[in-house]
Parts: sequence; structure tokens; C-alpha cells
Amino acid sequence: MSDQAVGFLGLGTMGAAMAANLARAGFPVTAWNRTPRPQPDLEGLGVTMAATPSAVARATDIIVICVSDTPDVDAVLFGPDGVAAGARPGQLVIDCSTISPSATRDFAARLATVGVDLVDAPVSGGSEGAQKATLTIFCGGEKAPVERARPILEAMGKTITHVGPSGSGQAVKAVNQVILAGAYLGVAEGIVLALKAGLDVEQVVGALGGGAAQSWVLANRSGRMLDNDYPLGFKVALHRKDLGIALDLAREMDAELPVATLTAGFEDDLISDGHAEDDMSALARVIRSRSGLPG
Ligand code: NAP
Repeated sequence: MSDQAVGFLGLGTMGAAMAANLARAGFPVTAWNRTPRPQPDLEGLGVTMAATPSAVARATDIIVICVSDTPDVDAVLFGPDGVAAGARPGQLVIDCSTISPSATRDFAARLATVGVDLVDAPVSGGSEGAQKATLTIFCGGEKAPVERARPILEAMGKTITHVGPSGSGQAVKAVNQVILAGAYLGVAEGIVLALKAGLDVEQVVGALGGGAAQSWVLANRSGRMLDNDYPLGFKVALHRKDLGIALDLAREMDAELPVATLTAGFEDDLISDGHAEDDMSALARVIRSRSGLPG
């Protein structure tokens, strides 16, 4: 059992699984979710539920956040009853949400004024990675707080890399999401071409698995594209949010990202057609329907 009390804010698809893994690793965990709902699995692991983020901050040493977007992290940190209202010098906040790199630097500077360190630690590896504690995690911040965060992150993930100062973890995550845009679109196009060509798609996926087209998306998401059924996963709306972050960063850096831009447009269409909550592999809907298949 660790003597570091850990707080967890945001018990969504990712957060609930990550908080459970912290409890399984022996950390005493106090958790909070904006929308109160019964958490029998977490409570069964000994997790204590608190009423507000400030109550979590008062009860713990290290606070992990996993909420949706930049304004949500802002609200959890600095809103009424936010972390800052209950924080004390020497605490550490680890933000595992995927948010803006520049806002992260601003949040870190504001927390520093009350003696609290912030490490940005966005994650990759999907809901499966969160459940199995095999997430890939990119950390931004000073060396000492990142090393202090490491045992917490090791309870939730497998590959933890300190990539630079505050905001760098989020910048690496933006790169990750841009690469994923191309990977999902490429697999969707390949699956649709295989279907249209009358091939045995499952056999095609197996055959390609040993070659250069092999990828996590091909192995784990081509089945959904074939079945035209997209259970979560990772919501289209969340990837669109991440592409917004990446495209803002690209504009700041004068980089041109044609595939990410195309994917963002397809995701906007999916969201207006009511598919915001589908898994991101629903990008195949766009390619399927443009090719005359049910989408
Ligand atoms: P999710 O299932 O939609 O859960 C979102 C969580 O954020 C919920 O607990 C929600 O609380 C909370 N939240 C949203 N806005 C809030 C606010 N203003 N104040 C307080 N709490 C708020 O999302 P998720 O899939 O767990 O994703 C969480 C983060 O991880 C996102 O940044 C996402 O980009 C990132 N991520 C997700 C995946 C994935 O595969 N799902 C993979 C890597 C990274 P309520 O219950 O009250 O709505």
C-alpha cells in the first residue's frame, strides 16, 4: 500500500478505468465525477467518493485529472470548488486529459503561484489501454514533478516518456492524433476497397497483418468498419476536439496538415449526422457511403 493519497477527477470511459487501476496498485484513492452516479466497481476496490474537486484536493497529495477538453480542465482546477480552492503548497496535479498545449502552460503558471506543480500527461492506447493499464503516456513538465508522477503513471500505463517542459506532452499527443487521422482514414479506404473488390475482408486483414500495412487500427478497428458498427472506444467528438488542438498548433507553427484537415471535415459531417458518440472508426461510414455501401 502506498502512503501517497491520490485524487481522481473525471470518471468517464478512461478515468473510471484508470482510477480503478490506481486502487488495484495499492494507492488510497479519493475520486469525484461532475455528474454523480453510483460507482460500485470503484467502491468495491476501496475508492472513496468526494463531493467536489476542492474536497479531493484537501484529502489527497497528488491529483489526477481526466476530463474532456481545455475549458473542462480550467473549470475543475479554477472553478468554484475547484482544485485550487482546496490545494496546499507541495501538491502535484497530473492532467491526463487531452487539451491545448498553450493553455496547459498557463494552468501550470497559475498553479505555481499557489505552490502546486502541474505535469501534463495525456494518454494514448484507447479504452482497452485504460482498462489493462497499458497506456502510452507523454509527460510535459520539470524533471522532479515528472519523476514524482512516475509511480502513479506506471499504475495506469506501460510506456511513460518525459518529452520536455510544460505543454510538451500535449504537443506530442497532438502529433499522435494527426497520425491517427491518417491511419483510420487509410484503413477505412482499404476495407471499403476490399469490400467493393469482393474480397474476403477478414482474410485480407489477416494477410496484411504480417506486412508493412500492419497497424493497431488495422488489427483492432477494421472489424468495426467491416460490420459498420462502432461501439466505444474513442468518440468521434473527442478526436475532432483533438484535431482542433492539432490544427491550432499547426497554424501557430506554420505547418500544413491536409489529411488532418480532411479528417476534421469528415468528423464534422459525422457529428452533424448524429454520430458524435460513435467510436472514431465510424470515419468508415463516410468512405462506405461515398462508395455506395450502407454508411
Ligand atoms: P468521456 O467518457 O466522455 O468522459 C469525460 C469525463 O469528463 C466525464 O467524467 C465528464 O463528467 C468529465 N467532464 C467533462 N466536462 C467536464 C467539466 N466541465 N467539469 C467536470 N467534469 C467534466 O471521455 P473519455 O473517453 O474518458 O476521455 C477523457 C479524456 O481522455 C479526453 O481528454 C480524451 O480526449 C482523452 N482520451 C480518451 C481516449 C479514449 O479512447 N476514450 C484515449 C486517449 C485519451 P460527466 O460524467 O459529468 O459528463
